Amino acid sequence: VHWDITLAWGYATGAARHPDRPAIIDDDGQLTYAQVHKRTTRLANALPVQPADRVAVLCRNHRGFIETLTACVKIGASTVLLNTGLSRAQTSQVLKDQKVTHTIADREFAHLIPEEPTTWTDELDDLIKSGSDANLPRRPPRGRLIVLTSGTTGAPKGARRPEPASLGPAAALLSRIPLRHGEVIAIPAPLFHTWGLAAFQIGLVLGATLVLRRKFEPEQTLKDVDQKNCTAMFVVPVMLQRMLDTPRRPRLRIIASSGSALPPPTATRTLEEFGPVLYNMYGSTEVSWASIATPDELKKYPGTAGKPPEGTTLAIVDEQGREVAAGETGRIFVGNEMLFDGYTNGTGKEVRQGLMSTGDVGYWKDGLLFVAGRDDEMIVSGGENVYPREVEDVLAAMPGVREVAVVGVADEEFGQRLAAYVVAQKDLTADHVREHVREKLARFSVPRDVVFLDALPRNATGKVLKRQLHP
Ligand code: ATP
Repeated sequence: VHWDITLAWGYATGAARHPDRPAIIDDDGQLTYAQVHKRTTRLANALPVQPADRVAVLCRNHRGFIETLTACVKIGASTVLLNTGLSRAQTSQVLKDQKVTHTIADREFAHLIPEEPTTWTDELDDLIKSGSDANLPRRPPRGRLIVLTSGTTGAPKGARRPEPASLGPAAALLSRIPLRHGEVIAIPAPLFHTWGLAAFQIGLVLGATLVLRRKFEPEQTLKDVDQKNCTAMFVVPVMLQRMLDTPRRPRLRIIASSGSALPPPTATRTLEEFGPVLYNMYGSTEVSWASIATPDELKKYPGTAGKPPEGTTLAIVDEQGREVAAGETGRIFVGNEMLFDGYTNGTGKEVRQGLMSTGDVGYWKDGLLFVAGRDDEMIVSGGENVYPREVEDVLAAMPGVREVAVVGVADEEFGQRLAAYVVAQKDLTADHVREHVREKLARFSVPRDVVFLDALPRNATGKVLKRQLHP
């Protein structure tokens, strides 16, 4: 593995070293490293985009996303990766906030885009045909890569990615996830989100073949893994849950999950049914990665987020900034080479002694990290602090419960009370749900409200939109 690879020259390097290896397999077929390099050079020469431009990409997982991004970095333009699940109003706001000058989008999202100059991804092949093969500058001006946060706590924020000289820092992940050179990686996780993007970047360093689909369908993904001989797969937890509902169990060396908390029963079932291949990565748009749990660790503690990879420091601190003792809950701070460069609106996350706040709280047990939840999700009920995650984990393990989200709602008597929103498989009653929690947790953790739903509201990265549960 060569660590000197950059985003702009990743395919050029791949084309020189292994030209005929498949680089991308998607709904439209297969492209080799040599082809992607040639196509992205032509695209960079043909796109009506200048180095000073800011290009928004609104795209599902297919070659168009990767080729657009690569062409833009070859030009030296900045790119803003848009979340395909945003509304028209949110998308317009982001385009305005990010001062976007050009949009490259899948035509199915036309209704989300106002009147900015747009290139549709179904026109890319024609641009590539017409584009020249003329060499581009070996060192293009450095554009910025901006990724949006998931918008779990408010409007999605634009986070500037750091600009390491190469994709080398991504190698740190390999200290905990044993990915290899030439891996065949299925990426159902959305490429516009930091986890899908990380999968693409690591794949490029490893000279991997990326297996993509425009839409995530659990059966199709598992069929692809089988038929295309995928060795690794990058998912968000809800995708794993959907795949466990289908029968196919292809052999894989690595299933890497991130983006949101992995429910312990999902971890256990995955290990039982796919074998010891599951890795749980805890990270965020802002800190990139914080820690990773290996299959052995998950087998022992299905709820753990593991340990930081090489080159990452993780501290759990109390209000005075002192590191807490094992078992005590505190705020999680992280330091590594991939901390973001601030939000595009100028603010940032709190930094203490070089470590950045993740906005989450957690504790150590047996040398392993457990993420209790987001700092701002803590519920104070009758003076007692409750983290919804603890109650969610207990309920997720209850027979008959498919999915669950717990939130705090205002209460005259207690300040806040707990409300559980449950997607149930069979006839559960609110009393069953309360009884189950009462048996396992403290009295103040028992949800007073229990609401049954057909599905939980989720965003395009599979995160539960708790704000929609109790507006
Ligand atoms: P916004 O900042 O707009 O509210 P967001 O924080 O949800 O959005 P992301 O950066 O996509 O946007 O999410 C990172 C957060 O997701 C982490 O801070 C953590 O709360 C949660 N998370 C991600 N992976 C894990 C994991 N493996 N275990 C537990 N929590 C996780």
